[in-house]
Amino acid sequence: MLALAGHNLGVRTVCLDPDPESSCGQVAAQVVGGFGDPTAIAQLAERVDRATFEFESVPSASAAWLADRRPLFPPVGALAAAQDRLDEKRFLEGIGIPVAPWARVDGPADLAPAIRRVGLPARLKARRLGYDGRGQSVVTRPGDAPGAWVAAGSAPAILERVVAFERELSVLAVADLHHRVACYPLVENRHHDGILRLSLAPAPGLSSALQSQGEALAQQIMAALGYVGVLAVECFQVAGTLVVNELAPRVHNSGHWTIEAAETSQFENHLRAGLGWPIGGTAMRGTAAMLNCIGAAIDPGRILRHPDCHLHWYGKAVRPGRKLGHVTVVAPDLATLAGRLGPLGEAVGVPLEVLERPLAG
Ligand code: AMP
Repeated sequence: MLALAGHNLGVRTVCLDPDPESSCGQVAAQVVGGFGDPTAIAQLAERVDRATFEFESVPSASAAWLADRRPLFPPVGALAAAQDRLDEKRFLEGIGIPVAPWARVDGPADLAPAIRRVGLPARLKARRLGYDGRGQSVVTRPGDAPGAWVAAGSAPAILERVVAFERELSVLAVADLHHRVACYPLVENRHHDGILRLSLAPAPGLSSALQSQGEALAQQIMAALGYVGVLAVECFQVAGTLVVNELAPRVHNSGHWTIEAAETSQFENHLRAGLGWPIGGTAMRGTAAMLNCIGAAIDPGRILRHPDCHLHWYGKAVRPGRKLGHVTVVAPDLATLAGRLGPLGEAVGVPLEVLERPLAG
């Protein structure tokens, strides 16, 4: 989607991906290689004027090597902070951002003191390479701890208190080369089995106070990181305020609706920011929902018969639990959106449990 946005702006993309059949390689030139492969990174550097990433598990050493040779955005510091949950928590707390109570767990012996400090129930999260709920397990009773250690990958982790949130929200913000920041309306995100299934934009019932709090958080984080490009701040709404869960230093799944329903998409704005061009408007056109297609092929005919809906299929091999595409549906108001969501959600295969939660906010 970044390459497609770039194409419209006259920007040619070369991607690096280990998979010769990668989604991006289907629409852009590709260097086939691992993100930690020095030869592949050098080949990429030779072919581009500037670089970005849209996967936060790119080794920060690779990103740093590239950043020494070509302008790289977002900054390596943001990538490093986001790819280790311990560094991320320390960074956020260090600048006064609210996060759930947490403790460091380097080995099984740290579990009991961590539980005493954090309280239960809690989630044990591997520090590195966890996403879509992978590398995580829930500890409900002290006796669960040894099993949770194994389930979370028997690797250095953090223990984090389970937050009794009202809902999950994300803040999507973009910072230009002069560190001016623009934010999209906050988005409500609904997960199932740790995977994002549905995003609603703007978050139903979004108050201007919550929007302002989200914008202030994003601005503070971006200023501390010297950020350029799109950043997603994943949050929990607790008693009407935001507690930050994690950072995604890249264009984000919860911002895919911006392609059809915002003045400028997150993909275009990410490129405009990194190329030193003016950032485009972040206001919405109407209201939108983004439904992820997870783990199974879909029948485009069954989806495209719904009004104002837009299918994005990524051309990936079908595997259980894999994000294979998404559908965005746009409507002039929340009531119309609600009416469209049920039948469309069923056609996409969004779990009923996710669809049936009221769109009240
Ligand atoms: P993460 O990989 O940290 O984004 O976690 C994936 C999903 O697990 C989140 O989107 C939440 O639905 C849930 N989750 C993670 N951490 C917590 C927490 N501390 N309390 C409650 N739910 C959580």
